[in-house]
Amino acid sequence: MAGVLDARDRDGAARKLAAGPLDVLVIGGGITGAGAALDAASRGLRVGLVESRDLAAGTSSRSSKLIHGGLRYLEQGDFKLVKEALRERDLLVSRLAPHLVRPLPFLYPLYKKVVERPYVGAGLVLYDAMEGTRRPVPYHRHLTTRGALRRAPALRPDRLAGAMVYYDAQVDDARYTMTVARTAAAHGAIVLTRASATALLRDGERVAGARVRDEETGREFDVRASAVILCAGVWSDLVHSASGVRAGYQVRMSKGVHLVLAGPAIDATTGMIVRTSKSVLFFIPWGERWIVGTTDTDWSGDRAEPTATAEDVDYILGEANRVLAKPLNRSDVLGIYAGLRPLVAEPPADSRRETAKHPGNGDKPTTKLSREHVVDTPLPGLASIAGGKFTTYRLMAQDVVDAAVAGFPEPVPPSVTGQLPLVGADGLPAVRASARRLAADYGLAVAAVEHLTARYGAAALEVLDIIAADAALGEPLTDGHPYLRAEVAYAVTHEGALHVEDVLARRVRLLIESPDAGTSAAPEVAAIMAPLLGWNRRRRAAEVRDYESFAAASTAALHTPAPLPEPADEALVSA
Ligand SMILES: Cc1cc2nc3c(=O)[nH]c(=O)nc-3n(C[C@H](O)[C@H](O)[C@H](O)COP(=O)(O)OP(=O)(O)OC[C@H]3O[C@@H](n4cnc5c(N)ncnc54)[C@H](O)[C@@H]3O)c2cc1C
Repeated sequence: MAGVLDARDRDGAARKLAAGPLDVLVIGGGITGAGAALDAASRGLRVGLVESRDLAAGTSSRSSKLIHGGLRYLEQGDFKLVKEALRERDLLVSRLAPHLVRPLPFLYPLYKKVVERPYVGAGLVLYDAMEGTRRPVPYHRHLTTRGALRRAPALRPDRLAGAMVYYDAQVDDARYTMTVARTAAAHGAIVLTRASATALLRDGERVAGARVRDEETGREFDVRASAVILCAGVWSDLVHSASGVRAGYQVRMSKGVHLVLAGPAIDATTGMIVRTSKSVLFFIPWGERWIVGTTDTDWSGDRAEPTATAEDVDYILGEANRVLAKPLNRSDVLGIYAGLRPLVAEPPADSRRETAKHPGNGDKPTTKLSREHVVDTPLPGLASIAGGKFTTYRLMAQDVVDAAVAGFPEPVPPSVTGQLPLVGADGLPAVRASARRLAADYGLAVAAVEHLTARYGAAALEVLDIIAADAALGEPLTDGHPYLRAEVAYAVTHEGALHVEDVLARRVRLLIESPDAGTSAAPEVAAIMAPLLGWNRRRRAAEVRDYESFAAASTAALHTPAPLPEPADEALVSA
């Protein structure tokens, strides 16, 4: 199958980028950059993408992992965003990535007998109506109190006045981002991770590419391109200022923390969304576990590794305990992660340029603080984008590529990504249906084949080929988790993983799923990666040490003691 990111061929990718020239150079390998690279490459352009760290190492591995319209944005009156997002959700679930994006029911408990049901019900009627009638997920439903408790015995029964059930979808955000980058590579994009754009190249006023530093070797080289697309999320302002670009927007960082809980901690067969005094709290099933969050606080510290605090942990547990019959405590928490929302804000008035546009809005400047995205063309040859949602990445990519190629001498075809299934989607039904035969052929349990299909779609066959060549790689990576050792090898040979961190944090998710943050699996991961990447014993040890420090920093908030507030007895939910 085409669309391989082979970490063993990293030097080749760097050479091709340096040889140029490209039509489009994308800076940033989060979902926005990966989406832009796919959009541009599938229009027939020569495309390169550079990412400072690993694909999805920024915000795109740290989201709530929902592909959703966003009920909250509906309440805020952001109808356009909700409508677009619902259409995208349905496209991803049904055509573009059915192997990665799965429908998920959410229970919305009601606590105010008379007023809340019609209010929430009307909102869900609108939510369903915006989606249209050809829908891959069921319509919302009303539940009695008894019906609600049947699906979610975990809820406190007192004051519960019934519930609504509606559908959204969920995704492994890091896996999805990497799969979009693989699909871009399948269409010819050159993808180089651990490579930072340090400055923009200029031909007079015009931006003509970027100076790139290879973070693995320290080597610098120029990548020339007719247009540069900046998709640097919360780093956008840094790239703008390093190159003296006066941008039409600024990014405001808002930190969101999630906890990962053991499955038995919450007795429910559905996701749940509950109101908090500040926003909403999601309870999201995640394999055998739960993800619960999130917070929303301003952040001005380290962009690369935003840290959760003991207060963040207590806030989430406290809010969850307002609605749960059996209170959660810290011993239920297996993992934690923090991410930064790249929200767009207007720059100070004295430096404002009125050129940042939301494409499709004519000439109206739309730089504003919201969940919508902003495309800016501050200089000829440069288009920059920020804001938006994971869910709407495809539209964001289309908008920013349209802006980037607007000045090209030859017309560029319109976006085709709405018709392009991602790597692993083609052939999915047949692979799903063949689980039993494949299990017998490869000497695996059916559950192991189903696990692979749920993570790789039809590309599970490639992982099975690795096991066929070396049966030992069909063994589990670590106890208590479904990951196989072959997935580590595949992460290197097909998914561009260069370091132990890339594997444990983003290809398999032991960083957030395991109580030891995956540290006990790190030596085994390093041992599987070593022969593929030519690591000697010292390098293996260094990789393990680096991962241990990274994991310790990521999970520090869980080891900082702080007393838990008692579950509140007063009104459970404020409208
Ligand atoms: C807590 C939280 C929950 C969320 N939940 C949801 C959700 O459930 N559903 C949803 O739709 N959206 C959600 N979002 C929003 C969504 O996650 C983000 O909008 C999206 O991931 C942003 O992607 P991005 O590519 O713009 O940024 P990023 O993923 O941060 O990517 C930017 C990349 O640029 C790279 N970079 C920076 N500077 C350079 C340089 N000079 N050279 C090379 N590379 C560079 C960085 O390393 C980084 O990888 C959530 C966000 C947060 C924080």
